[in-house]
Amino acid sequence: MDTPVDTLRQHLIDPEICIRCNTCEETCPIDAITHDGVNYVVKAEVCNGCMACVPPCPTGAIDNWRTVLKSAAYSLDAQYGWDELPAQNAAVPQLAQETAPADAREDAPVAASDTVRGSTVPPWSAARPYVQLYTHKTPATAIVVGNYRLTDAAAPSDIHHIVLDFGALSFPVLEGQSIGILPPGTSADGRPHHARQYSIASPRDGERPGYNNVSLTVKRVTREHSDATDGVCSNYLCDLKKGDVVTVIGPFGNTFLMPNHPGSHLLMICTGTGSAPMRAMTEYRRRRRPGEATGKLMLFFGARTSEELPYFGPLMNLPKDFIDTNLAFSRAPGQPKRYVQDAMRERAGDVAQLLKDGNTHIYVCGLKGMEDGVLQTLADIAAAHGMAWAALWEQLKREGRLHLETY
Ligand code: NAP
Repeated sequence: MDTPVDTLRQHLIDPEICIRCNTCEETCPIDAITHDGVNYVVKAEVCNGCMACVPPCPTGAIDNWRTVLKSAAYSLDAQYGWDELPAQNAAVPQLAQETAPADAREDAPVAASDTVRGSTVPPWSAARPYVQLYTHKTPATAIVVGNYRLTDAAAPSDIHHIVLDFGALSFPVLEGQSIGILPPGTSADGRPHHARQYSIASPRDGERPGYNNVSLTVKRVTREHSDATDGVCSNYLCDLKKGDVVTVIGPFGNTFLMPNHPGSHLLMICTGTGSAPMRAMTEYRRRRRPGEATGKLMLFFGARTSEELPYFGPLMNLPKDFIDTNLAFSRAPGQPKRYVQDAMRERAGDVAQLLKDGNTHIYVCGLKGMEDGVLQTLADIAAAHGMAWAALWEQLKREGRLHLETY
């Protein structure tokens, strides 16, 4: 008689593809994911395979599974030590699979809609993105063709607009996608630095129309952090010179994408460098006006002061009938502290009109801390204008019309 083997489909994160963005840890409803300074890992005894973390992962690193003997599940210490995933152990019978088991996948939409706050599907009219064309094993290289400081020289924030050119290499991107940068060198433990993710700030047809280039919005991290590797990539990028060669992976992202149908409205809410995807979308629409796109653009943009707001000058020069721009400065001298939520409440009537319109797509990007406040503000505005927020929120998520990207 066969003795039953007590196996476990162990959920694992691929350290080679993971860009350490923390999205999975934030999303997990039962705190099964954790990390050290090197790897993101899954607690075998806690993970219930609910799949809530899978759709939001920008790279797919999260969607890895190994069948193991329960008694020999990979410990957290083992996972922390990995540079790559172990192969499926052939000695473990049946069910050897690289991705989630079918039964877990069938559960996914229920779990995801309960725990994920934004859409896990793109707008219906979004163009089909290419993702992960270049990986850690097969990265792309790009040449720096521009590196400009965006913020006032006297401002404490040092934010750069960096343009990378791929030359003849195919690197197709869409607005809302991101790329990973592999900074040179190694961390204290001798391992190569892991990739850092940056949203693309340019439209699909290039920072310069018709050129094979992308731009990034990068803030130099100078503060002292407990994590000694903080700031490694932002300082590397901000110090780049024209002609330098950068190692790139990606593109990433298949849901935070803009709608392509001309009547679609964009309600964009961002802080600081979270403006990168908003710039990409706005610029894409600007290049196609008038005629091709008739929907409205409404922007709420928060920064400490006007001097610290990236793209302040160009933004202010955009025609008022093209984009409805609302700025919120939290530390403007002599002014009360103002966040994007405050600006949204001041424009509640117009935000409500957009919320009522099935062509409206909402994008939130920037500080993690803003997410609660922005969602609460949308809920309050909806309620004050006779809309049932809980149902509307579900609808927005289901229809790929509410996209959140906060770190
Ligand atoms: P920041 O300068 O630190 O903050 C921008 C503004 O947001 C400040 O006015 C700040 O006010 C305000 N703020 C703070 N807490 C808030 C809250 N709870 N609700 C609303 N507003 C709030 O921004 P940053 O350093 O540029 O950081 C932007 C974030 O975007 C980062 O976390 C970054 O990881 C993320 N991001 C960047 C990219 C990219 O491509 N670079 C893409 C996606 C996301 P006070 O400081 O005065 O309180």
